[in-house]
Amino acid sequence: PLEPWCIGGPVIKGFGRGSKVLGIPTANLSPEGYSAILSEHPTGVYFGWAGLSARGVYKMVMSIGWNLYFNNTEKTIEPWLLHDFNEDFYGEELHLVVVGYIRPEVNFPSLEALIEKIHEDRKIAERALELPHYLKYKDDPYLKKIS
Ligand code: ADP
Ligand code: MG
Repeated sequence: PLEPWCIGGPVIKGFGRGSKVLGIPTANLSPEGYSAILSEHPTGVYFGWAGLSARGVYKMVMSIGWNLYFNNTEKTIEPWLLHDFNEDFYGEELHLVVVGYIRPEVNFPSLEALIEKIHEDRKIAERALELPHYLKYKDDPYLKKIS
């Protein structure tokens, strides 16, 4: 299977597609500096671990996809941290260890169908990350290494 890979940086503003309104906030990372590693991985939905500044390490499920805004030249990196935060954390340092791939990017007939699929993805991620093979990466030093 896939080798874990790492990506990180400050949490940036996305384009407000209303994900928070849908109950699915995604802490966007800039793809800048990661074009090589991103080109090695297909677009779609991934899961892994997220280290957020001094707050802690959390499960995450992430979409990597093309951003039409950038004329299809840049991908967006959008992890949903599977934890209830009572506030935003824009600008905070976020480090990801990506351990698994769930599915490719697809189109949905409706917003409801999209939301339902994302919740399925979340359940898959939550369960998979309890398996020893994926759980062990929770201790990866990269998650604590905040530059
Ligand atoms: P944007 O388009 O700016 O990315 P979102 O609607 O996707 O806006 O909301 C993302 C923001 O919500 C994050 O940058 C972060 O500050 C905040 N946030 C709060 N809880 C979470 C969470 N569980 N996972 C990801 N981001 C969260
Ligand atoms: Mg977002």
